[in-house]
Amino acid sequence: MPAAESEDDASTTGPRTTAVHAGRADIRARGLHAPPIDLSSTYPISGMDSAANSVTEFAHGARVSDEPVYARLYNPTVANAESAVADLEHASDCVAYGSGMAAMTATLMAARLAIVSENPDAHPHVLAVRPIYGTGDHLLSSPMLGLDVKWVDADDVAQHVGPETALVWIETPANPTLELVDIAAIKEQAGEVPVCVDSTFAPPVLQRPLDHGATCSMHSATKFLGGHGDVVAGVVSTNDAEWADRLRHVRVVTGGLLHPMAAYLLHRSLPSLPGRVLQAQSTATDLAERCEEHTAVQRVHMPGRSEQADLRARQMSGPGTMIAFDVGTREKARNVVESVELMTAAVSLGSVDTLIQHPASMTHGVVDEAAKSDHGITPGLLRLSVGLENADDLWQDLSQALDG
Ligand SMILES: *Cc1c(COP(=O)(O)O)cnc(C)c1O
Repeated sequence: MPAAESEDDASTTGPRTTAVHAGRADIRARGLHAPPIDLSSTYPISGMDSAANSVTEFAHGARVSDEPVYARLYNPTVANAESAVADLEHASDCVAYGSGMAAMTATLMAARLAIVSENPDAHPHVLAVRPIYGTGDHLLSSPMLGLDVKWVDADDVAQHVGPETALVWIETPANPTLELVDIAAIKEQAGEVPVCVDSTFAPPVLQRPLDHGATCSMHSATKFLGGHGDVVAGVVSTNDAEWADRLRHVRVVTGGLLHPMAAYLLHRSLPSLPGRVLQAQSTATDLAERCEEHTAVQRVHMPGRSEQADLRARQMSGPGTMIAFDVGTREKARNVVESVELMTAAVSLGSVDTLIQHPASMTHGVVDEAAKSDHGITPGLLRLSVGLENADDLWQDLSQALDG
């Protein structure tokens, strides 16, 4: 039995039970079975003084207050989805945004804020370990947030940490090579500096960064958490109350909200998250084996498969549902991407259907060429996000594309 299916979880209920019931406590109390969707943009106040008090509390990052006041400050549909994700992540708080990139932006702004509110003359920087998601790399490399980035090796974080280090940013498993970064080792090197993990490739049933010492766990909920290719969303979870307030403060002020319709769809997808991930993981493991035996495939990447097995076992409950493999050249990769019929050639991942893409030209097209070759984003690399179809059907499709 894979570890993810065991019930010896730190929380009081098993992870599948949590996925089904989280964020729904008030729904039963209201006599409902499914979460209601509240689309109000504003809320009638019950009194001026209590409304004024709520405005002030929300402006400083409160999670709830006596009056909701205005949709940018509070929305109950979004709050229920956040509470569900927080439970799955073993977090006290989750803050949801309009996309994964909005979540990353808010986290970086909150980290900068923590430093400059103590010392307005400071020049905060982020330490980041490549490879990370292409647009995340683009954001960190750009001057638009007023935050410098130092790209460091995972083993060199300690020697670069200083009083102006606002955050250590890592992604594990990393996109697209599925290389792992040791969260606990990064935390130890970072000391007091907060560590944020982009855990998009390993949703809560596979990995919970906060359990390994991370300050924040971020997801593009557009991927596994939404899971059906119809939601764009981002979430950041934490057990640090000051961080949670800062994350909400940034959201209230900059407005990177998650719409309640999207929050509803996200919440609706969470009960099936463990089942979806565990089924797709078993199919992905089967496909990885078949790829390894195929003569057109040079190398198969899957967490813990050929290396980092100990770290994988410590940090994740299984290898996950993502595979990357190298077919040697850009032309051969093009041929595979353009020949699959059942699989969809598209960016994104974590959906119920299987997606295939070419990182060097698609998700990581904007990444610096030298950084691409330094981090294994080769011209022949393909990335597969395995869905819920039958393994034999997927293999028939992929093998005809590889043979072609
Ligand atoms: C997709 C993705 C993001 C960005 O999320 P959006 O919802 O597209 O804004 C960030 N990190 C990783 C690892 C991703 O896969």
